Amino acid sequence: MNILLKPFQTPFSTAPFSKIKNEDFLPAITTLIEETKAEINAITSNPEVPTYKNTIEALEFSGAQLDRVTSIFFNLNSAETNDDIQKIAQEVSPLLSEFGNDITLNEALFKRVKAVYESRESLHLNAEQMMLLEKQYKSFSRNGANLAEDKKQTLRALDKDLSKLSLSFGENVLAETNAFEMHITDENDLSGLPEGAKEAAKQLAESKDKDGWIINLDYPSYIPFMTYADNRELRKKLAIAFGKRGFGNNKFDNQDIVLNIVKKRFERANLLGYKTHANFVLEERMAKTPENVSEFLNELLDKAKPAAINELKNLEDFAKELDNIDRLEKWDSGYYAEKLKQKLFDLDDEKLKPYFQLENVTQGAFKIAEKLYGLHFEEVDTIDKYHEEVSTYKVTNDKGDLVSIFYADFFPRAGKRNGAWMTVYKSQYIKNNENSRPHISIVCNFTKPTKSKPSLLTFNEVTTLFHEFGHALHGMLANTTYPSLSGTSVFWDFVELPSQVMENWCFEKEALEIFATHYKTGEVIPMALVSKIKESATFHEGMQTLRQLSFGLLDMSWHGQDPSAIDNVKTHELEAFENTKLYPDVAENCMSTAFSHIFQGGYSAGYYSYKWAEVLDADAFEYFKEEGIFNTDVAKKFKENVLSQGGTVDPMVLYKRFRGKEPQPEALLRRAGLIKK
Ligand SMILES: [Zn+2]
Repeated sequence: MNILLKPFQTPFSTAPFSKIKNEDFLPAITTLIEETKAEINAITSNPEVPTYKNTIEALEFSGAQLDRVTSIFFNLNSAETNDDIQKIAQEVSPLLSEFGNDITLNEALFKRVKAVYESRESLHLNAEQMMLLEKQYKSFSRNGANLAEDKKQTLRALDKDLSKLSLSFGENVLAETNAFEMHITDENDLSGLPEGAKEAAKQLAESKDKDGWIINLDYPSYIPFMTYADNRELRKKLAIAFGKRGFGNNKFDNQDIVLNIVKKRFERANLLGYKTHANFVLEERMAKTPENVSEFLNELLDKAKPAAINELKNLEDFAKELDNIDRLEKWDSGYYAEKLKQKLFDLDDEKLKPYFQLENVTQGAFKIAEKLYGLHFEEVDTIDKYHEEVSTYKVTNDKGDLVSIFYADFFPRAGKRNGAWMTVYKSQYIKNNENSRPHISIVCNFTKPTKSKPSLLTFNEVTTLFHEFGHALHGMLANTTYPSLSGTSVFWDFVELPSQVMENWCFEKEALEIFATHYKTGEVIPMALVSKIKESATFHEGMQTLRQLSFGLLDMSWHGQDPSAIDNVKTHELEAFENTKLYPDVAENCMSTAFSHIFQGGYSAGYYSYKWAEVLDADAFEYFKEEGIFNTDVAKKFKENVLSQGGTVDPMVLYKRFRGKEPQPEALLRRAGLIKK
């Protein structure tokens, strides 16, 4: 029998990785989809009147094994994939999205959910039950379940158009990115570039059978050139090519597509009963309304702008003094900022790395979780894993009860995608009075140990580890009834609070003393280095903030109002940038026509959330700082009101329970040194 179809006979019922064969996945998933369909049929054909229990809760707990198997499968596809798994993914993905559509479009099911929803005030539900009911109802209504048949047709047509337009948008950006290359034949033109960047440029030229060096618009090539290349004319050429993508009046031009997308999104939102696309999106976010987002962005702007102007003035003076530059342009910003940073801090990774041996940093994160939340991490070798490099831990609380199983997978491999992430193999939930604990994993791509040297992390890798560990704590400490509201299943402008707040400990003396010790001598990291890390972390924070705000405001200008009157992308953009502009405009460039985050990816009406999350974590950590970074009362409040609650309660309510008040943007500005205490 297919091992994925029966309960796992393993310690803590963890995934039986070593016994799963790739060819098990497709038949298991197909069978489990059918089983889940039968479970849903049982709900819709139930002759009893719809109740919370026979409909909402039954739907919530349907497909549990399907969820487990698909999460194992997709986690493997990210962390340890191969041609077979990728091929199976091609087959499995459409099956799952079709199945998802079958549920959302299931009218009999919606009728029952709606009946329960409409009687919700008389059902005496608790907060979590009410949240689950709302979530289920909205998953139908936000997809048009309440619309008349002709309007449903209109909605499907709009969705189809929008997905085509986003696809074309992305294809055009990609085509324009790939079409440009700067061929360099005189080595002097590479002056300033680090050896690694030169080498990469040479290899790129070789791969195209050319002499010399090639620089292109991919980030690994583009960013080093803009940061280090001394040749100002070439930086200008490259920057203009980058800023011109989708704005070239050629067949890859995105201007009409942008206007089309925002107008169709607006129409779609209206059809579903929302004032604008942003109102539709923000209904399921902590920020709630476009007005709140605009107020938030503009308040930060008011407060960060004086600092940004000041930083720009300093940078201009520096560039004048160094190279007699009269007017700083966009293509000068990264270059002179890097030079100034070097001058001020003289901080490089090689100096810091010996203090951050991976094993010490990991133990440090565990120790901090112990001091704050009473968690104990014990490495165990009885848990099956998908690769020998994965470490497995049993996590318990002070009473010795199991809290979670934790997997840590740190090093790059051929089958692993780039970046770092936290993921879940099994969610936490409570059923039949049993609290079923979660299985959580973090996956990273850190510097590997060699024969002579252990894995020594850059400071950026250290904060990445703490970041993902913060997400992991959110998953591990979950204590809710329903799996779909458990752990990190929260509104997405709230999900980065637990992760980002953990990064703060990496900058604190008391925390660094626990784990930042020299791998050879055992000496604790010198505090002079720590101060430098802290100061350099907020270098040019004012200008960085303005840049992020400019993107957030541009996003809201497209999605937070009726776009019918907008007929020129560039003119509209210039207006949106009016208050955040630091450098002279470049007439032949446009940001919107290559702003993939909001026109291709899922960040429309969501770009603000980067800054939003920073405010949350700065404000939360300020509370720890006020009471002591290992204060157990504050930690207990954070655990009880945030980490354990998942998405069972509105995030602003949770936050206020923890903090006693709403988050204050000033906390972020104080941490960044932009305003006085
Ligand atoms: Zn994150």
